Amino acid sequence: MKRIVLYDIDSKIPNFALMKISSFYKNLGYTVIFSKKIKYIKANKYFASSVFYNEKSMSRIKALNEIYGSDINIGGSGVNLSKKLPKKIDKCFPDYELYKHRSYAIGFLTRGCNKKCSFCLVPTKEGKLNSNYASFDNFVPKKQNKVMLLDNNLLASKKSFSIIESIKKRNYSVNFSQSLDISYLNEDIFNLLIKTKSMNSRFTRRMFYFSCNSVRQTKLFYKNESYLREFGRDAVTVIVMFGYNTTLSEDYEILSMTKKLKLIPFVQRYIPVPNTPAKIPKNYFDMDLDKIAAIKFRTNGQNGEKFLRYVNQLYFKTYGKYYLPILNAIYRYNNKKAINKYLRKPHLISKKQYC
Ligand code: SF4
Repeated sequence: MKRIVLYDIDSKIPNFALMKISSFYKNLGYTVIFSKKIKYIKANKYFASSVFYNEKSMSRIKALNEIYGSDINIGGSGVNLSKKLPKKIDKCFPDYELYKHRSYAIGFLTRGCNKKCSFCLVPTKEGKLNSNYASFDNFVPKKQNKVMLLDNNLLASKKSFSIIESIKKRNYSVNFSQSLDISYLNEDIFNLLIKTKSMNSRFTRRMFYFSCNSVRQTKLFYKNESYLREFGRDAVTVIVMFGYNTTLSEDYEILSMTKKLKLIPFVQRYIPVPNTPAKIPKNYFDMDLDKIAAIKFRTNGQNGEKFLRYVNQLYFKTYGKYYLPILNAIYRYNNKKAINKYLRKPHLISKKQYC
């Protein structure tokens, strides 16, 4: 019997493309072998998918290329933005058995986006918004009522109303994994969204996700304050990207917005995509660092520590010292003893900022 091997280089959730490739070749009678380990496996065809563009993924891709040379077909946004699945594969129903995944369905209803945010690979990879990419029946198994949507800008679609109505009608719990675009929030959309079971990624609690990547966007959050409040207490998370091209005071202004509106911030560092490195301004440090050290992130602060570590690293790179109040803030709640590795080097620590 013919065999294919599918390598998952770095996915954090079941890889949508690999599940479709699996489905296509199973239908042709192939035996599908799935591997997260990079090792030689004898087969007739070889595919791999990489989602992230980082050193670890690149070294795994290199290893696969060394093993298989031109015999392996490697795709995904971590490796090639222009490579797409052939239509005959793309239209297959995903093979969830590849990951023995039964917790929720995964898929896109729309692809692409008409906006051109400079840090985002979607316009290059997927092109303009296509509202007719797929329907729920193309990827949601019967009896499954949990759906993770991967759409990049669902609310921009002219079908967004009917899609949200359909979510309600089918009684689905959905996770808008790529977040919703606040610029499309209005009374009509709000009235539809509020009736949906919008959930966190584990489908354990009700949650609506929006993104805020610039100070300009904070104005839209303030403008929509009443809707955001009506979604409910602790029911709105704002994905805040840092490390692309904002100054410290801009990062602070965005985080302050989430605090003022009582929204949950979830910070995420910009992960460079091919040809788009981070553009951290030379004058990044443009405000009182004590205000940053005083930020109290919600719950036990683990997510917020990511941002503080970034500030700490950048500060050391710029000034050659660590600023003690920032170190104290990083180790305020978790892993408290780890601060000692810094305290053991007092010559590298400053109690005064910017000197
Ligand atoms: S709106 Fe979202 S998907 Fe569209 S380009 Fe901007 S970041 Fe990318």
